[in-house]
Amino acid sequence: MGDENHPRGRALWERAGQVIPGGVNSATRLIGRPYAFVRAEGAHVWDADGNRYVDYHAAFGAILLGHRDPGIDAAAAAGTAQIDLMGLGVTEQEVLLAETLREVMPSAEMTVSCMSGSEATAQAARLARGVTGRRYLVKVQGGFHGSYDPYARNVISPAERAYKLDPLSAGILPDSLAATLVAEYNDLASVETFFHAFPDQIAAVILEPIPHNVGALLPQPGYLEGLRAITEREGALLVFDEVITGFRHALGGYQQIAGVTPDLTTFGKAMANGYPIAGLGGRRALMESFSSAGGPVLLAGTYNGHPVGTAAALATIDRLRHSDHYARVRRLGDRMRAGLAEAVAELEIPAQVVGEGSVFVVYFVPAGTPVRGYRDLLRNDDDAYREFHRRMTDKGFLMLPMALKRNHISGAHTEDDVDRTVEAARAVLAGMRADGFFKDKE
Ligand code: PLP
Repeated sequence: MGDENHPRGRALWERAGQVIPGGVNSATRLIGRPYAFVRAEGAHVWDADGNRYVDYHAAFGAILLGHRDPGIDAAAAAGTAQIDLMGLGVTEQEVLLAETLREVMPSAEMTVSCMSGSEATAQAARLARGVTGRRYLVKVQGGFHGSYDPYARNVISPAERAYKLDPLSAGILPDSLAATLVAEYNDLASVETFFHAFPDQIAAVILEPIPHNVGALLPQPGYLEGLRAITEREGALLVFDEVITGFRHALGGYQQIAGVTPDLTTFGKAMANGYPIAGLGGRRALMESFSSAGGPVLLAGTYNGHPVGTAAALATIDRLRHSDHYARVRRLGDRMRAGLAEAVAELEIPAQVVGEGSVFVVYFVPAGTPVRGYRDLLRNDDDAYREFHRRMTDKGFLMLPMALKRNHISGAHTEDDVDRTVEAARAVLAGMRADGFFKDKE
């Protein structure tokens, strides 16, 4: 499946480049081969040239149950059967969703819904600053919290810019970038340092409880609890950005698994199996600081509470509540991780396989080197990952093209998909070794 075998995809992509900057509607869709897709169903997607792929990209994790799940699609279509967007007052579906979220998510006493994770995190930043009257936010190196100004710095930073100023974009006011401080994941001391340096000036600490934007760094025992204690002591808010982990790892988000309840939670992606909806939840006292409840923090959005996303979210949550989804995808995830780890060990590849539940990651960091924070990931062999990705794609297995991202198993994947993926990975890794790829890299 080399590029010469993708004439239709290439043609569409060339047309796209004339009218869409770079040919894609989001910059991260450009990485890897120029893809053009025509069909998706269950665990599979088809490109414009008829090639079928087992899909672990899953739209950055938004696809939780499988592509075009008939039940969720039907619910989404029915979402506008009687009423569509009002822009005034509230609908019963919106109330139902907020009631459901309060039941399933420990921190979500009240919620608001919006269209994207970036809106949810931007609102969290403003709410945190608005209620505390403080200036600074603390994030961790490697964490991604959407495209808006408060967090647009220090995600997959090169070694020379990690922990220093590494903006994701031009056009952000320097003052805005400087008001977000960058700590190390799994390192409570790095957070304490900021509270000492800026007493009573930090509004919130925000993090993905598992930073999936750099694969799957797992919280060390006591880390999330430590953040909870520090923020409480300092009068700052703890914000869990569960845009990826929420609904993916448990109905109540990773906070349910960790047993740590943040002040605010942002969520999106998987909650509606690919339909656009996201949100922000928290304690009533905080959430009533929004202008909708007479508070000082603006809450506005034409599409907030949109009926299609709301109906899809309700149907997705209902499925998750009444099925063995989590046990099933965890079994498949364990099978994938065990299979890949066995191949890596047998072939003596300098790599490690990590993950949680339905998420799996191959880090090209030699085994035996603990991977706890971003600093450890600076040792990742990005070239090896890119080659692994390219060869896996050629065999029909679609993964995230960036060296430090994760892959997702959905409710539509089967044991057979997993076994074929492991088999393909074993062949790819053996081929890379035979081609001398890991020479001098151990
Ligand atoms: N937060 C996290 C953890 C994310 O991974 C993302 C997107 O990848 C966002 C926020 C932003 O979400 P959206 O792309 O829906 O704006």
